[in-house]
Amino acid sequence: MAEQAAPGRRHRAYRFTLDPTPAQAAVLTAHADAARWAFNFALAQKRAANQAWRLQIAELVTLGFDEKTARRTAVKIPTAAEVARRWTAWREDPAADSWRGGICPWWRGINRFAFSSGFRDADQAWSNWMSSLAGTRAGRGVGEPRFKRKGRATPSFRLHHDVKKPTIRPDGYRRLRMPNIGAVRLHGSCKRMVRALDRGGRVQSVTCSRRGHRWYVSVLVDEPDLTPGRETQAGPSHRQKAAGRIGVDLGTKALAALSEPVGGLSDEHGLVANPRHLKKARRRLVRTQRQMSRRVGPDKRTGQEPSNRWKRARARLSKIQREVTEQRASHLHWITKTLATSYAEVAIEDLNVAGMTRSAKGDAAAPGRNVRAKTGLNRSVLDAAPGEFRRQLDYKTPWYGSQVAVCDRWAPTSKTCSACGAVKAKLALSERVYTCDHCGFTCDRDINAARNIAAMAVPVDPGGGRRETARGADVSPPPASCRGGSPQRSAQPQQHAGAP
Ligand SMILES: [Zn+2]
Repeated sequence: MAEQAAPGRRHRAYRFTLDPTPAQAAVLTAHADAARWAFNFALAQKRAANQAWRLQIAELVTLGFDEKTARRTAVKIPTAAEVARRWTAWREDPAADSWRGGICPWWRGINRFAFSSGFRDADQAWSNWMSSLAGTRAGRGVGEPRFKRKGRATPSFRLHHDVKKPTIRPDGYRRLRMPNIGAVRLHGSCKRMVRALDRGGRVQSVTCSRRGHRWYVSVLVDEPDLTPGRETQAGPSHRQKAAGRIGVDLGTKALAALSEPVGGLSDEHGLVANPRHLKKARRRLVRTQRQMSRRVGPDKRTGQEPSNRWKRARARLSKIQREVTEQRASHLHWITKTLATSYAEVAIEDLNVAGMTRSAKGDAAAPGRNVRAKTGLNRSVLDAAPGEFRRQLDYKTPWYGSQVAVCDRWAPTSKTCSACGAVKAKLALSERVYTCDHCGFTCDRDINAARNIAAMAVPVDPGGGRRETARGADVSPPPASCRGGSPQRSAQPQQHAGAP
């Protein structure tokens, strides 16, 4: 992972869709293959060392030592540097692999950073596992790292370069030049990145990954933290001040409910619908899945190879899935930008995302209750991506002079009447309309909740305080030396290609 930016500078990722020639696409694939190979090579070394350590313990135990003492024998798991040394020595050494003349005789033509970042990724995966075992890692447990399988793992690789002699650099506004790969055309323009580089930004690394039929690139730039025009503006504009605060309840039924209708964004009541093109894409998705199920697919047990018709359907499926992801992402960006620019404060519920999306079925020890209702809820919560929604608001609001306000996750936002404040004892998930027993107020359940969120939320201090990640882990605020920015700004906001 990228280290923290120096004081007065920040890391920012610029993301683009690539439009490689067939020859360039082949080179990209070769690099991703090499990175996957490198990860597996490093992991195999680590596993072998770990295995040797276990054998050693078993031996000591048979010699009469108790297991606790035996476990204290040092284990030396090779790190990236050691793995890289072995790789250099063995890659063309027939003694290491006489059949192929070295373990990796095809390494020429592949940028060496594709290998070294693969080695380092294995280090990270291993230490994640170790800290999870030791209990020092927050959030969900991390298992033993597994080998990356071709066709399974996302094809991806990362390149670094000498910052003094940059070989990863834009070529005009429409091409990105990378070592060993050449100048690859971009779908969009990289003008903003070029400007950042002109202002003293430096490209740190580039990550290329293929999802579905497309190659994407994410360029990490270390740039001076020049607060762009709007940020120097101390607070909200007159228009934003007049609009005040808006409450957002992220969808159970609709995508979101707003405390007041916003023209162009919601209907006249304040409900934000899921985009229509998404529904259409879903239908195509289901149709293609059905097609696939009727065609001859691969079967591991019989060794059946997939038919060409099945492969074509699968390619179509992954293309549609990709489109859906992009459409959802740009829709979400549009909503968060609209809210951040039109209001002085955007109030949301501080959801425990990891907890909400955990399986409703529970496990053998704690079987879930009311499983069916909760499964439906889980699906829509995942669709609306509340964690991503919050992340975008957190970094966009300071850009536009607005602020995020958060209300406690246990606040009775759906049970309270937004008109008189009376609180109901119980409200079933199936009750779509809120009717107050006290004052007779009637309103859509989610809009009622959004109004309560607007009323109960407390502004978040962008400079300090502890935050939680979606995994439930605490995130410490950045050191004071990182200037007064919000934690998100120094932690490189992912910039979406087609987004505002
Ligand atoms: Zn009431």
